[in-house]
Amino acid sequence: AKAKGRNTFHFYSQELNAAANERLFIENELRIGLKEKQFVVYYQPQVDSRTHQVIGYEALLRWFHPTEGAIPPDKFIPIAEATGLIVELGEWVLQESCDFAVRLTKQGLENNISINLSARQFKDSSLVSTLSKMIIRTGVSAKRLHLELTESMLMGNVEAAITQLHELKALGISISIDDFGTGYSSLSYLKRFPVDILKIDRSFVKDIPEDTNDMEITAAIIAMAQKLKLDVVAEGVETIEQMQFLQNNNCFIVQGYYFSKPIAEHELPKLYERLNEL
Ligand code: C2E
Ligand code: CA
Ligand code: CA
Ligand code: CA
Repeated sequence: AKAKGRNTFHFYSQELNAAANERLFIENELRIGLKEKQFVVYYQPQVDSRTHQVIGYEALLRWFHPTEGAIPPDKFIPIAEATGLIVELGEWVLQESCDFAVRLTKQGLENNISINLSARQFKDSSLVSTLSKMIIRTGVSAKRLHLELTESMLMGNVEAAITQLHELKALGISISIDDFGTGYSSLSYLKRFPVDILKIDRSFVKDIPEDTNDMEITAAIIAMAQKLKLDVVAEGVETIEQMQFLQNNNCFIVQGYYFSKPIAEHELPKLYERLNEL
């Protein structure tokens, strides 16, 4: 038993070492990647399922590492968050997104751009002034900027969160609650937060039309959003059945592989073509 225990420990420490090493590797490479412009922002359309018009885009960060290839956000965002690098990386995403919005405007397109904010960025006391300066510098219309926050980010210091949200709203920015229904949100708080949009999490959408529980939850979230006069966006919509279920329940703005994966800006013409043919 003793020998086995030792082996088990040895095994664990090897695994821990591997995890720690990977973390360290990613942390170092993140700094290099930022300097060497290995990051790209992809955009996933949010489409009106009735008209197939693009309403907006969600900005999603992509990392193309010279030797590792594409490293998914789920692998590096948590490390960027833990090391604080997310503030710099997130500011770059905001800048890219504003520039993208301005380029769209020049083509006569008034799409919204939704940008994910990490907890660390939201807590950062310079967020509002950073955004305010960026809006002036880029000339983007603040109305077009939507910030996606998660429920848990709002729940820690509720009063501070409400104040910060009001400051962001004063700039003209809209607030979207991401992954809605998966966190510890309280409905009474939801009314106190100056929020504009609820995003229904993919976990509720993915098993429609098989899972009747998920269908009821989804329908209830949409109904509640309407009562609270909030817009609602469904994420992770992959099938026509899911889209039709959402339509029947009065959710018309959908994001997901059914319409398009997140794409590079140069792929937009192909997207318009596809939406036209649908
Ligand atoms: P999220 O904010 O919930 O973003 C939606 C994720 O679902 C994206 O994964 C998107 O590619 C994926 N997705 C969209 N439609 C479908 C679909 O129909 N089916 C399936 N299976 N997946 C779909 P992605 O791009 O890998 O991003 C993962 C997470 O990383 C995001 O989840 C977000 O939390 C985080 N993230 C991405 N970019 C940023 C960023 O710039 N800043 C911050 N703070 N977080 C980011
Ligand atoms: Ca999001
Ligand atoms: Ca989401
Ligand atoms: Ca999600």
